[in-house]
Amino acid sequence: MFCKILDGELPADVVAQSDRALAFADINPATRGHTLVIPRKHVADVHEISERDLVAVALLAKEVADRARERLGADGVNLLHSAGRAAWQVVFHFHIHVIPRYVGDPLRLPWVSTPGEQTEIASAAAALRG
Ligand SMILES: [Zn+2]
Repeated sequence: MFCKILDGELPADVVAQSDRALAFADINPATRGHTLVIPRKHVADVHEISERDLVAVALLAKEVADRARERLGADGVNLLHSAGRAAWQVVFHFHIHVIPRYVGDPLRLPWVSTPGEQTEIASAAAALRG
């Protein structure tokens, strides 16, 4: 789907671009200015993307986030990447959501922050530790 935008087969409201990445308006915006940033080279997710493309996407996402604050008056910005169906990924071409946030907007966190059990926290950290 996003490859078709890159190929010009599907229209998109392009916001910004670089030689390795493209930023365009999400057609299902969560808030005003909701933008998707993708690498030009097709990869599914964070596990597949090259370091160079990840850097390019991150830099373009920052540019869009800065513009959201400066030009749309956003009070904050969320950057979100989903990898895998369990993580709510729907389109399997790497993308970062840049979601401008406004005081009083309707978005809410999908989980309630609650203290964890210390041995389980330490166990997961140990499994993740390099
Ligand atoms: Zn693609």
